[in-house]
Amino acid sequence: MGIALIWSLIVVLIRWITFKRRGAISYDSSDQTALYIRMLGDVRVRSRVGFETERRGSHPYLYVDFRILHSRPESVGPVSARKIRRLLSFQRYLHSSRFFRGVAPQNPLYILDDDYTGQAKCMLKKVGSWNFDIFLFDRLTNGNSLVSLTFHLFKHYGLIEIFHLDMVKLCRFLVMVQEDYHSQNPYHNAVHAADVTQAMHCYLKEPKLAKSLTSWDVLLGLLAATTHDLDHPGVNQHFLIKTNHYLATLYKNTSVLENHHWRSAVGLLRESGLFAHLPLEDRLGMERQLGSLILATDISRQNEYLLQFRTHLDREDLCLDDAGHRHFILQMALKCADICNPCRTWELSKQWSEKVTEEFFHQGDIEKKHKLDVSPLCDSQTQTIENIQMGFMTYVVEPLFVEWARFSDTRLSQTMLGYLALNKAGWRGMVQDQASSGDDTDPTLEETDSDILPQESREL
Ligand SMILES: [Zn+2]
Repeated sequence: MGIALIWSLIVVLIRWITFKRRGAISYDSSDQTALYIRMLGDVRVRSRVGFETERRGSHPYLYVDFRILHSRPESVGPVSARKIRRLLSFQRYLHSSRFFRGVAPQNPLYILDDDYTGQAKCMLKKVGSWNFDIFLFDRLTNGNSLVSLTFHLFKHYGLIEIFHLDMVKLCRFLVMVQEDYHSQNPYHNAVHAADVTQAMHCYLKEPKLAKSLTSWDVLLGLLAATTHDLDHPGVNQHFLIKTNHYLATLYKNTSVLENHHWRSAVGLLRESGLFAHLPLEDRLGMERQLGSLILATDISRQNEYLLQFRTHLDREDLCLDDAGHRHFILQMALKCADICNPCRTWELSKQWSEKVTEEFFHQGDIEKKHKLDVSPLCDSQTQTIENIQMGFMTYVVEPLFVEWARFSDTRLSQTMLGYLALNKAGWRGMVQDQASSGDDTDPTLEETDSDILPQESREL
């Protein structure tokens, strides 16, 4: 099938879907005094995971008012259940199976302009570049970066031929995935998923991985990256728990969002029938591994994975002939891809920082409006983009990428660490500028950073 035909197919499929999205989240913590440390050290009892999917529009819980289900008298307070439910109503409420009922979209997408399509195709030739501008690519594809990029990568890796995939089913699956992200989310939307998928591609082609990973591994890595934040509501787990959201109940307050992303992905996989031709055992294995990858992106489990990674590196016992070890490396690669924003160029990194901060503050505004406790990092009156970024880079991003560079000591790893150091210096410089110009900024910020930052990190 020619490129032009594929693009036409994508466009036609997208025209069948409505474009009402909503949205926004992020890393979770509730301790004011040791925010990032706690974020890394959150230890929980975890429930066993099963294989129930959250089928689009068919899950019984989707029709239950989460305030009624398991509501606690003391938590009802001034919060209007209807209001919050409206804010958080997920995509599937809106277009559950509209696609299959053949209902015409309310806002049909106009056909892509040929010039833009040509430029987007041209950009895809450099999809493996770390400087790939996903924002530009998204504009050139008229908001279809996730579908276009992932489809391209499936072709690039030969996955369509290897797994005998039906091109139409693949396109339909990818369109459904893209549409289940909330475009109203400043950060957790389909562009973030496309960015993570692009980063994953960069990692998959690193020498150590490229020579060891099987096509099955590559397929899973790309699928996990593409779906890892599916149907993200734009608020964090802490918010869902304190408002007694049905998902928090369903997943016993444990990796609530990640479980939802996974089950949503499995639901779409089954609905699309993309792998219906594979043996049941393989499909179940794929769903299980997909879950294991997506659940690894729970930032509250960062310490657990980081310690395991460090131990393997210290012992030099990672053997990528071993399927279990390859899976672990895929988990680490996905974790890196998910939080690699501070390792991009300043221009790209700054845009992501602004988006995630907007999403945090939006959550804080909802909490204030409904007289709930404002979650850490979400209060626009006490937090700044600079201090949020400095803390995130120091306590979450840097430790992970330092270990990744130990595992994969390549030019890309050094480039990422280089940008990380530059970006950190950039934010620090902005804090200093504000302080010297008499702005009302937190004077302890720089002191905190230099006091707590590990020695090796300071030397970056
Ligand atoms: Zn993510």
